[in-house]
This record gives sequence, C-alpha cells and structure tokens, in this order.
Amino acid sequence: MEVVDKLKILSEDSQYDLACACGTGKDDRRKRGEDGKWIYPVTLPNGGYSVLLKTLLSNVCTSDCKYCPLRSENSVRRCILTPDEISRTFMEYYKARKVFGLFLSSGIIDTPDYTMDKLIASVSLIRKKYSFKGYIHLKVIPGASEASMEEAMSLSNAVSLNIETPGRSYFNKLSQRKDFDRDIVRSLKHLSGLAKEKYPKVKLTTQFIVGASNEPDSEILKYSFGLYERLNFNRIYFSAYQENPLQPSWSETFALDSPPPASSNKLVREHRLYQSDFLIRKYGFKQEDFSYDTNGNLNLEKDPKEIWAELNPDTFPVNINSAPRELLLRVPGIGPEIASRITKYRQIHKIKELVSLGVKGKSEFKIKKYVVL
Ligand code: SF4
Repeated sequence: MEVVDKLKILSEDSQYDLACACGTGKDDRRKRGEDGKWIYPVTLPNGGYSVLLKTLLSNVCTSDCKYCPLRSENSVRRCILTPDEISRTFMEYYKARKVFGLFLSSGIIDTPDYTMDKLIASVSLIRKKYSFKGYIHLKVIPGASEASMEEAMSLSNAVSLNIETPGRSYFNKLSQRKDFDRDIVRSLKHLSGLAKEKYPKVKLTTQFIVGASNEPDSEILKYSFGLYERLNFNRIYFSAYQENPLQPSWSETFALDSPPPASSNKLVREHRLYQSDFLIRKYGFKQEDFSYDTNGNLNLEKDPKEIWAELNPDTFPVNINSAPRELLLRVPGIGPEIASRITKYRQIHKIKELVSLGVKGKSEFKIKKYVVL
C-alpha cells in the first residue's frame, strides 16, 4: 500500500483522539484541513496555535475497547506505517510548510512496548536524522514500560495517555484486556513524576470518553480535579462517545438499563464538560462549586457558571470598580480577558459604562444583571 493510502486510513481512524486539541474553537475540535485529512489546525496545550500532521502509526490493535471501532475483533482495513515512512512523509510536509508539528498515536501492535518502540523509532528519526526541533505530541500506549515512557518524554513536547473513564468500575465495562490500575493509573502517575523531576517543559494531556460507560459528570470532574491538582496535568479533553456502524447498539454494547442519550445531547454534554474544565483551569472553580442533577450530571440547558450564580445570589451584585479579580470572574459573561480589561481600566478611570471596556450587545446585557458600576 502506498504511504498516502495508509495515511488516508490511519488519519481517519485518529479522528476521535482529541488529546491534541485539534481545532481552535469549541465547535471545531474535529475540524481538519482540506489538503489531506491528516492536517489539523490546533491550539496547543500551552495556548499557542499550530497545524499538525495527525495520524495513527497503526490501526492494528490487540485490545478490545468496546467503544472503539478498531478493537481486534472488528473487521476493518488495517495497516501500519513504518518509522521510515512516517518520518519521511512528515518531513516532506514540514519542508513544504504545510504542517509545523506532529501528533502520533497508535493502536496496540502486538504489545504496548513493541508499539512504543515503533513510535519512539519514528520520532527519533525525525529528531535525530532530520534534526526537527519543532512540536511533537506522542501518545503513550496504556501498559507501556517506565523506560519507554521516559524515552517518549525525552523526545516530545507533549505526551498523552487517555484515562478514558473516571475509575476502575467504569473502565471494566469497556475493556477486559486493559487494567485500569496497572495500565492507566500507574502510567499517569509515572508520567506526572517524570514531568516534575526531569521534563518540566513536556506538557501532559489526557482524555475521557464521555457517555460510553454510564459514568456521571460528577465522577469525571472529580477525577479531573485529581489530574490537575495531584498529577499536574496540563489539559484534559472530553470525547463524546460516537455511535459507529461497526458498533453494536449502545445498550447492547454496554448492557445498560437506561436508554442511550440523544446524540445531540452527547455533544452538549461534551461542551458542558469543556466549560467546567475551563472554569477549573481559568476561573478558580472548586469541586463544591459545581452542582449536578440526581444522576450526578451537569445541567444541559445552562452553563455551569450561570448555575453557580443562580445558586449564590448573595454574591451579587458585584461592584465592578472595586471587586477583586477572583470575584469578577464569578460574574456570568466576564471571562479572564474582560476581567483583565476591568482591572487595568479602573486603575486610571472609574468604570461608568461597560461599553468603555468594549463590552456590548448580549454580553453587556448578561453582565449587567450581576454588577453595579
Ligand atoms: S487500545 Fe482500545 S481505544 Fe486504542 S485503538 Fe485499541 S481498541 Fe481502540
């Protein structure tokens, strides 16, 4: 098979892996370039913008994840790129200035360490033979040895290992071959330790698959706090479980009593989790600031910050001219950027109108309900 034909298959199969923030806005995380489906615009974990070549090295996989079309028992067209093929192809795209970095993941070819050897060999060629100094995001395969994790970190700007579910009991519903404690938790902790002690510049990211194991949002967010606070991860991504023609029906797959959520709701749920994640990372929200329905899920109708404001009426109105930044950030409609404009502007002038901060229209209407000038 020609390299370009392999890339067509392998890049298509990498689409559900969002752990490199493909896309730049809330609606385009799955967006891809027009010149080959393997070219993705991305926002990097440190906030920068780039265009990556994103692909799997192999869609051959010995594992059995129920949510994944690539699991071993499914009949799909399989192929593997060699380290030489992927490194050469990446450098051709890079030299043509069509991509500026690489996101490389893989199904499990034979064993986790055999796969890691191939991933590491690919990236070593790019770094050492072709002297590429730019951005590389490498996937760590669940169950990889500590030595291979360290080698991956030594060659990459970012590494990711997908946690998939908030805890062992949900994970066991999805895979019999992978072990949550041994293959996921141990590896996440080891990556965290390496980042702390030896590779502080390497960003760590992970991803939850949302809606595949009947897991509630409250559990996903509880684990998210642990990943940020205890393991110092830089970004968490959420991927709504997608039905696929190769999948049995949702309830058949997961043997659950409850009906599957409407597909539109799955993406709204994913969006609410991204909003919550943003509130944790940028707004100082704590676990107790989120509220859930009786099933432990976030409200699909309103964003979690508005819900917090409704439940804490005593906090409002906030005085725009004197409130500390942390309090400004609790106001629905005020994000980090507007909060910065407020704190800068009021050092010189009293704020008499929101429009003097460049806030108009719907945002102005929303903010006005919660502030005094
Ligand atoms: S390890 Fe699981 S999620 Fe990854 S490719 Fe294999 S079956 Fe799919």
